Amino acid sequence: MEKIAVLTSGGDAPGMNAALRAVVHQAAMHEVQVIGISHGYEGLLNREFAPLDLSSVDDIIQRGGTILRSARSERFKSEAGQEQAVANLREAGIEGLVVIGGEGSYRGAQALAERGIATVGVPGTIDNDIPGTDYTIGFDSAVNTVVEAMNKIRDTATAHERTFVVETMGRKSGQIALTAGLAGGAESILIPEVPYNLDNVCQRLKWSAARGKVHSIILVAEGVASGYTIAQEVKKRTGFDTRVTVLGHLQRGGAPTAFDRILASRLGAQAVESLLEGGSALAMSYVKDEVLAVPFREVFAGKKQINRSLYDLAAILAI
Ligand code: ATP
Repeated sequence: MEKIAVLTSGGDAPGMNAALRAVVHQAAMHEVQVIGISHGYEGLLNREFAPLDLSSVDDIIQRGGTILRSARSERFKSEAGQEQAVANLREAGIEGLVVIGGEGSYRGAQALAERGIATVGVPGTIDNDIPGTDYTIGFDSAVNTVVEAMNKIRDTATAHERTFVVETMGRKSGQIALTAGLAGGAESILIPEVPYNLDNVCQRLKWSAARGKVHSIILVAEGVASGYTIAQEVKKRTGFDTRVTVLGHLQRGGAPTAFDRILASRLGAQAVESLLEGGSALAMSYVKDEVLAVPFREVFAGKKQINRSLYDLAAILAI
């Protein structure tokens, strides 16, 4: 291969830039040219192509977001859209493509691979919801952002003897809420994967109050319920002064953690190696500190589970 391309797709995640940097450096080592495609699959359809050289990726390892911008593209999901995408890549002489994004982006990458474009995926999403990899790029940064916010909220919760409901991202996945809740000492963690009982949550708050702890944080993943709904119910059932913080897009921004930078660098570099070895329809994955290339089909057949022992531990530590 002499020319490959790279794009970022779906929700942005801290560390996407570090992955881009690794793609460009690894390709440069093999004297392979890299084309950056802006705005994900939408930009692929609009031929938003520009060469990326080493100087294009200077000074980005520490930056959140993505210098290529990200987007979602409905047009690309259609047969006609995918045919157009393949034609645009062929016309530009692009022989391989690295897609940095979440599982939806992987499905797009699989479609391109089936149409004859060698395509590999790098897991870039804060949700950590992609099967086959222990971690996705951006998750650790998002968790640290939530923990930092919890530290601040706990100060005011303590000062005013209040209960706080903190809503995190995670429509289908409770990975962020669970991990941040454990690290931040949440009194209760509500996630989509585990049914919850609000009476139990309230009972725990009352026990805590009875032993003199008059501040609490309930962490709720957005997929469970709105933080406001939970807060209203808690206030009704306990009478405690209950406030809400919705962290929202705060969780996507900011500099990536060292863990995410290293993860992104390793996975981005491996993506280029996989393409140059003739691989396609492969997802770069991080398993037990090793970087592997896992077929997209295996990823799609899997289901990312939460680590139930972390959930149980969090419950013990919160008492
Ligand atoms: P995040 O986890 O951050 O939401 P994601 O990659 O899962 O990231 P999606 O919006 O699901 O985000 O997908 C990104 C883009 O990938 C879509 O806008 C669409 O262009 C493409 N895509 C998603 N699903 C498919 C599919 N089944 N077939 C082809 N393309 C798809």
